[in-house]
Amino acid sequence: MTTSPKFSETITLLARRTAAVARGVSTATPLFVESALNGEILDVEGRRYIDFASGIGVLATGHLHPKVVRAVEEQLKKFSHTAFQVLAYEPYVELAERLNGLAPFTGPAKSVLFTTGAEAVENAVKIARVATGRSALIAFSGAFHGRTMMSASLSGKLVPYKHRVGPQAAEVFRVPFPVDHLGSQIEDTIHALEALFFADIEATRVAAMIIESVQGEGGFNVAPPQLMRALRKICDTNGIVLIADEIQSGFGRTGRMFAIQHTEVEPDLVTVAKSLAGGFPLSGVIGRAGLMDAVEPGGLGGTYGGSPIGCAAALAVLDILQEEKLLTRADAIGRSIRGCISNLVESKEGEPIANLRGLGAMLGFDVVKSREHPIPDGGAAKRVAARALERGLVVLTCGSHGETVRLLVPLTITDDLLKEGLDILSAAVKQID
Ligand code: PMP
Repeated sequence: MTTSPKFSETITLLARRTAAVARGVSTATPLFVESALNGEILDVEGRRYIDFASGIGVLATGHLHPKVVRAVEEQLKKFSHTAFQVLAYEPYVELAERLNGLAPFTGPAKSVLFTTGAEAVENAVKIARVATGRSALIAFSGAFHGRTMMSASLSGKLVPYKHRVGPQAAEVFRVPFPVDHLGSQIEDTIHALEALFFADIEATRVAAMIIESVQGEGGFNVAPPQLMRALRKICDTNGIVLIADEIQSGFGRTGRMFAIQHTEVEPDLVTVAKSLAGGFPLSGVIGRAGLMDAVEPGGLGGTYGGSPIGCAAALAVLDILQEEKLLTRADAIGRSIRGCISNLVESKEGEPIANLRGLGAMLGFDVVKSREHPIPDGGAAKRVAARALERGLVVLTCGSHGETVRLLVPLTITDDLLKEGLDILSAAVKQID
């Protein structure tokens, strides 16, 4: 993506970035941020943007929610770091208690905190392996679980995540995630699992199955409740741990605390991060107490895991979700987005779009080659995002071919700002200049 030469500060920064920062970390937009508040961003040129990306689904409570800021300031006046493994502190324990109370399963829960989503995934795998004494893992097509070695091995996309990075983690098996509009059905998943257990790995040697109830990077595909029930049954029959990766879909994004709560299926372990701490790096695993206690003391943790700043922010986020009724708000935001995108589909103007999908405020749609032949068109989706950006809206794409425009609006956004953003998105799809 290019930027106009009149934006000299940005051009200078882009040149410095290219010279100083490794190519492997890419940025979806060419702008540099100066400040941000709730659903709006100002860049270094003083241009204003509406944020429909929320730092990849991190800001359910918006940029710098005053309560999060206050909680962090209060914590900073006390201490910023001790390493929980050296000196414990109450905010970590209180957050674990709160997360256990939110666990989407019955029975006692325990939690452990880390820093990034990938780290939560790594540790969920460790817990499952130690608890079961087994090593094999099952993941799904289109999955994204992170960029560390194990989490990338679990992710369902070679380029760029694991291209040439050497041996992937052993004993990771993959089955299709059913995506109706791509012609893949629940039965295909079940048959693939049966084939896997017949040909490649005994079900009784599988430690865990990891699934996103609504896929994030893979294209906002929703796991049908019937699939989740079938997976739960297979896990129960064979003693397999079911891990729900709620890193992108958790904390109200889909209108429930966790996306898996749209099904009646209870997972055994839940990985959380992103919107948990309103922009501060914090992640965790919530799980059934019996599993969570399997690992020997010292086997879990990390220098920064469950940082006091992150915990203070997360405690504020959990209060805000409740006080501002953000789960209900997610549904209302979702209805507005659905209305706007459905109108766009019906209008048949501009770029052909199709396959609106998702839950609550976790919604996406595809840009396709033509209305008659809805083949994914990643290039066209990129163009929609670029046109939106030119008009002052930050929006991300995802999907196996980058064909999906995904909307991750802060749940604290005002109706006016939401409408302004959706109007920009409509213009970007319709190609109105
Ligand atoms: N799991 C899911 C479902 C995600 O969406 C992501 C991040 N996009 C991760 C894991 C990895 O999180 P992180 O980038 O914080 O390591």
